[in-house]
Amino acid sequence: MALTRNKETMSNRVFVLNPDKSPRMPCIPKRARKMLEAGKAAVWRRYPFTIILKSEAGRQSQPLTLKLDPGSKTTGMALVLEGKTGRQVVWGAELHHRGHAVRDNLTKRRQLRSARRSRKLRHRPARFLNRTRPEGWLPPSLMHRVLTVISWAKRLDRFTMLDSFSMELVSFDTQKMMNPDIQRQDYQKGTLFGTECRAYLMHKWEGKCAYCGRKAEEVEHLVPRSRGGSNRISNLVMSCRKCNNLKDNQTLEEFLKRKPAQLRRIQAQQQASLADTAAVNATNYRLLDELKRFGYPVETGSGAQTSFNRQQQEYDKAHWIDAACVGNSGEQVRVPHLRPLQIKCMGRGNRQMCRTDKYGFPNKHRTRQKVFFGFQTGDICRAIVTTGKKIGAYVGRISVRATGSFALFLGAGKVDGINKRFFQTLQRQDGYSYSF
Ligand SMILES: [Zn+2]
Repeated sequence: MALTRNKETMSNRVFVLNPDKSPRMPCIPKRARKMLEAGKAAVWRRYPFTIILKSEAGRQSQPLTLKLDPGSKTTGMALVLEGKTGRQVVWGAELHHRGHAVRDNLTKRRQLRSARRSRKLRHRPARFLNRTRPEGWLPPSLMHRVLTVISWAKRLDRFTMLDSFSMELVSFDTQKMMNPDIQRQDYQKGTLFGTECRAYLMHKWEGKCAYCGRKAEEVEHLVPRSRGGSNRISNLVMSCRKCNNLKDNQTLEEFLKRKPAQLRRIQAQQQASLADTAAVNATNYRLLDELKRFGYPVETGSGAQTSFNRQQQEYDKAHWIDAACVGNSGEQVRVPHLRPLQIKCMGRGNRQMCRTDKYGFPNKHRTRQKVFFGFQTGDICRAIVTTGKKIGAYVGRISVRATGSFALFLGAGKVDGINKRFFQTLQRQDGYSYSF
């Protein structure tokens, strides 16, 4: 059933605004095209594609849920409509972060400043340990993730009627593991409880067999079931098949009678709590706090639950599909076959006026100007070139020069040296690049 559902092909819906810029229900592209052709609407934005009606025709709107699967490199986003026929994804996107670029830039700046201090110059004292960090401070590379996701949530709230959020908060939910009735096969493949426990144990044992350190394959009982061992999480470890068979129905102490050091190591790791995993997820908790400020209800789910929901419905693995499968509302959701909008964080340039060579010697100086001839790097433009070697029509993100000879980026390709007179702006730069 689920498989055939995934085969239905659709496009991302088009966002529609009333003449007063209040949001309406997103419509299918065919309907948007008809309205544009009939002159009843105009293009408001290219990415995400949004149209604005010229006259208002009855207010109708159906609230949507924005579902998020935050990741360190990519965050999946899905807008889910809850209608008479059930839940359905109407818009999907993947937001590609630039946390690593933020980190690299800060490292470079630090090195440059440090080199300047030690060069043959007037002494500049090192400035460190003289700053306090505000409560809830996150490194800029991580904060960037929170900020970009929130700015897209705000944007989608402007273009559609959102009424709730749903996000993946933790990779596994320790609250869900208190079920002593769980069966052995549940851990290997199957129930949500099993998936949750397995994800927890895999994290705790770092995917390795507790006994030999090779790749973990099975959930193993320290005190075997046959000898009254419980199904509690404290009685479970990960092991490889070989060690599991070798241990058979011995207890941990019997199995490792001759290896006291290993016995102590396993017992210590078994008792170690995973309380610190909350700190690892600080970025996600911060994102949750920021989402709550919208005033809409926020549903949270675990990563184990997401992958369980996705596998139950036999959907492919993709960030935006994971987003649709987050939480309890992800149990039953129709995911059509669509090309999600790819949104890449590009930044808005930097404030560095002086560029250095590879030795840190200043050799280039930039002007303060960012706009040349009405164009700015990052604008999405159309270029219709009528003369020269590059005759043709192009649409892409541009990179400007003071000379008026611009470069245009189309996906992976690039056309350079196009004169400014051929360009027409479609959308001003907003810190992102878009593709499908
Ligand atoms: Zn092993």
